[in-house]
Amino acid sequence: MAAVDPGSVLLPGHDVPLGRYTTVRRLLPQRQRRMVGAWCFVDHFGPDDVAQRPGMEVPPHPHTGLQTVTWLLDGEIVHRDSLGSVQPIRPGQLNVMTSGHGIAHSERSPEAHPPVMHGVQLWVALPDPARAGAADFAHHADLPRWRDGELETTLLVGEIAGERSPAVVHTPLVGAQLELSGSAPVAMPLRPDFEYGLLAMSGAAEVDGVSVEPGALLYLGLGHNQLNLRGTAGSQLMLLGGAPFEEPLVMWWNFVGRSHEEVVAAREDWSAGRRFGVVADDSAPPLPAPELPTTRLKARDRSGDVHG
Ligand code: MN
Repeated sequence: MAAVDPGSVLLPGHDVPLGRYTTVRRLLPQRQRRMVGAWCFVDHFGPDDVAQRPGMEVPPHPHTGLQTVTWLLDGEIVHRDSLGSVQPIRPGQLNVMTSGHGIAHSERSPEAHPPVMHGVQLWVALPDPARAGAADFAHHADLPRWRDGELETTLLVGEIAGERSPAVVHTPLVGAQLELSGSAPVAMPLRPDFEYGLLAMSGAAEVDGVSVEPGALLYLGLGHNQLNLRGTAGSQLMLLGGAPFEEPLVMWWNFVGRSHEEVVAAREDWSAGRRFGVVADDSAPPLPAPELPTTRLKARDRSGDVHG
């Protein structure tokens, strides 16, 4: 695929089976592009017909070193965590869970749920000292949302055009849903000190002649002042951006750390019932951690280069 400009490239994601029924499109990390700002994990799931199925069923599991950001276009999930939170989330609402040093949570659709499941699950890498800090959970039912011509923007994280999301993050970061109500060209301001990733959740859009459809991530490097977009009416896109996150990360299973040893310690703590706590109101057996690989886990920087 042709690059839009020297700093931009369309990155095809890959399908990952998740549980028995679901396949997700994993758009980050990729081999040559691990992160966009502090966004270090991007899964797009659905739309899936779950009318005769359980919907989302993710039993208790741990996290460290990251925030999870959950956003639905369709469906319903109940989040439960080891802080005692029990919180349903529906389309247009935002869940932000901050693991700090450690948290456990489960995500399940209620028994009576909408027939379609569609959304994104995103992770944000935490910097020092937040990654060693306290866990937190926040639900935001009311986010900034505005229309500019045929573009409706809902701000999940960060600031755009003077609007500011209530979500707390720990590095310069932005996340926004962009909905097109027509096929006319639209534009939105970008920060030249941010890198960006654009994905289509439904429909399709063109950025400088490159088509972005579900299953791929358009990466825009530093130095862009504006996003010029044109798509089919009804398209729903997600724009993620942030200041480049310079620390190499070790990402394994549900853990984000800085070294092999940190991940090993997190795995041992989870297996021994330490650190992460017990998920409220969920009696299902916790997910066991997979076996570690026989080789040492390596830290990788945002472009995929190995460090240490
Ligand atoms: Mn999780």
